Amino acid sequence: MSTEIKVPELGDFHDVPVIEILVGVGDEVDVETPLLTLESDKATMDVPSPVAGKVEQILVAIGDHVDEGTPIVVVAETAGASASPSGQSQPAAAAPSAAAPAGAAAARASSAGVPGSTGPAPAAAPPAAPAPTRPAYDAQVVVIGAGPGGYTAAFRAADLGLKTILIERYERLGGICLNVGCIPSKAFLHAAKTLSDAEEMGAHGLHFEAPTVDLEALVGWKDEVVVQLTGGLAQLAKRRKVEVVTGVAEFIDPHALRVGDREITFENAIIAAGSRPVKLPFIPDDPRVIDSTGALSPSAIPGRFLVIGGGVIGLEMATVYDALGAEVTVVEMMDQLIPGCDKDLVKPLATRIGKRYAQVLTGTEVKAVTAQDDGLSVEFSNGQTEVYDQILVAVGRVPNGKLLAAEHAGVAVSDRGFIAVDAQQRTNVPHIYAIGDVVGQPMLAHKATHEAKVAAEVIAGVPGAAFDARTVPSVAYTDPEVAWMGLTETAAAAQDVKYEKQVFPWAASGRALGLGRPEGFTKLLFDPESGRLLGAGITGVGAGDLIAETVLALEAGLDAEDIALTIHPHPTLSETVAFAAEMQDRSITDLMPPRKKS
Ligand SMILES: Cc1cc2nc3c(=O)[nH]c(=O)nc-3n(C[C@H](O)[C@H](O)[C@H](O)COP(=O)(O)OP(=O)(O)OC[C@H]3O[C@@H](n4cnc5c(N)ncnc54)[C@H](O)[C@@H]3O)c2cc1C
Repeated sequence: MSTEIKVPELGDFHDVPVIEILVGVGDEVDVETPLLTLESDKATMDVPSPVAGKVEQILVAIGDHVDEGTPIVVVAETAGASASPSGQSQPAAAAPSAAAPAGAAAARASSAGVPGSTGPAPAAAPPAAPAPTRPAYDAQVVVIGAGPGGYTAAFRAADLGLKTILIERYERLGGICLNVGCIPSKAFLHAAKTLSDAEEMGAHGLHFEAPTVDLEALVGWKDEVVVQLTGGLAQLAKRRKVEVVTGVAEFIDPHALRVGDREITFENAIIAAGSRPVKLPFIPDDPRVIDSTGALSPSAIPGRFLVIGGGVIGLEMATVYDALGAEVTVVEMMDQLIPGCDKDLVKPLATRIGKRYAQVLTGTEVKAVTAQDDGLSVEFSNGQTEVYDQILVAVGRVPNGKLLAAEHAGVAVSDRGFIAVDAQQRTNVPHIYAIGDVVGQPMLAHKATHEAKVAAEVIAGVPGAAFDARTVPSVAYTDPEVAWMGLTETAAAAQDVKYEKQVFPWAASGRALGLGRPEGFTKLLFDPESGRLLGAGITGVGAGDLIAETVLALEAGLDAEDIALTIHPHPTLSETVAFAAEMQDRSITDLMPPRKKS
């Protein structure tokens, strides 16, 4: 029997546009399966199917406006599967294993170790009473953690047609990156750049009054940015029918998790539990000692401010606090700032902050910190002792792998809390995947999102899905910014890799001069044999955006000529990438071509 399904009562809404059609002709639907999504200026609503069966016709298109009673879909009903007379929707995909423990356990066992399978085949049923379509698990994919890794994995999995549950311990989605990492720090860094730009234009004849900083308003603006973005994620989850569960997830066994008093069974799991700041054991528990999360919600700007850790996060926060008026000292144990990055790339930053900050100490350790009434007294390994009003500890992050009871699922977690994965993001338990900070360095949001898509696609059976990116670019959003990708000179020296290097100094870039920031440079490394780009490093304002072109060039296997022959808009800093490539193929005219190697 064919049933024409109409738009149900819509309350006060009329003439509502269809924004998404969620089924196609030939799809099997259950009672309550969402058919399409309507969106008014006030709400987004799904129209569920009142019957079970096969979709025969779709009578509307995206963009059509509908009202109560508009026919939308024709479904050939499955015998004996229509809605209950009471009109209550049937639980199409509910009832966790508690309702049928033996069956669920048996089903779990049957598909364990078969990644990408869509669960056990339903038991055979007589034709008149078809087997229920209830899945053996609550979800085909459960994702633990809603940071950039977790929400991306969940959304991609849902878009690939997998029933997905996303578990996050906090009410707000977005993880570290959106709530207390990438996004709020960049909002503050924009404010810092505005302040330092205004100050520095004084040297070029543009004088402003000393700025006043309304810290409460500034923090409020940063919070708004975060709320806007994280709220958007919640909407996107809803639109995709990703069920979001709030609470701390812990494994019970290889196919079940506990979140509060709820048990959630899953066919596949993706661990995206992220990381947390490292604490230094010898630093006293004192409200004047903060981590990056505390630094992003200041109630006052300190006078004497010590940043322990000269890595990316410490230096970004130092940039903010310096611009807001703190007297900043940075101390780094290694002999250079941003350890691991090529020294030449860090030099313009070190020079600039060397002039602006109270002190920049490299190759120096903090030996002891003592809380006093007048501040925090810090003893350095160079014999110096200083007192600070506030200390930011930014010495790295530890993965959250040990906080999941992963052993109950048989997932191996290293002593440090990392979870090892293969190129398909699989852990040692084949249907459990891990992504993002919890799997290792570099702990970066764009690495997490890339891995997330790989994991979701592997589970969905997308052919060839694997992590095979040639590089994960790194950026310090300091002033100047420092960005690098692919082969670095440091790595080339360690691994004895041969390369040819070109460096274009920004002092020869009209755009950099016009910005009053000629201290940067663009460095490209090429393979002497094939001529292809191997790596790039850029230091200067906007380097984080500029590096993307070189990542594309690396992924595409381009050589210097390809880059040089690509017309770059003038005058832009992007030209510096083309100029460095022109130096390699000696077609440069803005500088003298480098001498030919004999
Ligand atoms: C100050 C700062 C600035 C940064 N800036 C940048 C930047 O500019 N660019 C960049 O690429 N990276 C940046 N990062 C790093 C970036 O934030 C991380 O690499 C990224 O957030 C990692 O994503 P993830 O999904 O792996 O984990 P996270 O973002 O850490 O998310 C993990 C989520 O899992 C949840 N969770 C953990 N355990 C459980 C559990 N058992 N049950 C339920 N939920 C759980 C957590 O609550 C969290 O929400 C910055 C980090 C900081 C601290």
